Amino acid sequence: MHDPIHSLAQIFKKLPGIGERQAHRIVYDILAKDKNFTDSFIDQLKKIHDQTIPCPKCFRHFVFDNIEVCDICNNPKINPKTILIVERDTDLTAIARTGIYKGLYFVLGGSVPILAKEPEKIIRLNELFNRVDALIKNGLEEVILATSITPAGEHTDEIIRTYLKNLISQNKIAIKSLGRGISTGTEIEYIDPETFLGALNNRG
Ligand SMILES: [Zn+2]
Repeated sequence: MHDPIHSLAQIFKKLPGIGERQAHRIVYDILAKDKNFTDSFIDQLKKIHDQTIPCPKCFRHFVFDNIEVCDICNNPKINPKTILIVERDTDLTAIARTGIYKGLYFVLGGSVPILAKEPEKIIRLNELFNRVDALIKNGLEEVILATSITPAGEHTDEIIRTYLKNLISQNKIAIKSLGRGISTGTEIEYIDPETFLGALNNRG
């Protein structure tokens, strides 16, 4: 017989960091709540797709409100001379929250595992190329790579450097990575303002 507990757990298991046991625990926690909770949960899940879109410039997800681009890309105070590249939306949020960096962003949509083939199908490499190319005409001076200090993050850093190499050198743009004051294993998502400031100042 179809087991809805197991089926729902298999859906939660597809989320990052959720194993079989946690997935089942979440299902039982949901079962312990009343029907208002599940109704509101379903409602919010539907809205998340209907009311948000990825920004066509930086690719972060934002609440679509008749504005074509997100509030960061739309902000006239943003410094268009630098673009900082992160793996995920949560990395961007963490860095933006520090209030230290004042330039543009780009969200790759993940990182490339070391043995993975066709990285352009895993992260937004073509989109990044086109974005940097377009920004060069508006006075872009520097690309800052802020991938995680993990094997996949460092591999992604190298892939981007190779991919943008000609474009960067032909236009005399600097390409730098966050300083390695950040310890190995650091996910940008959890970076504190002090560590981020040190890493930004020590970029190279
Ligand atoms: Zn944007």
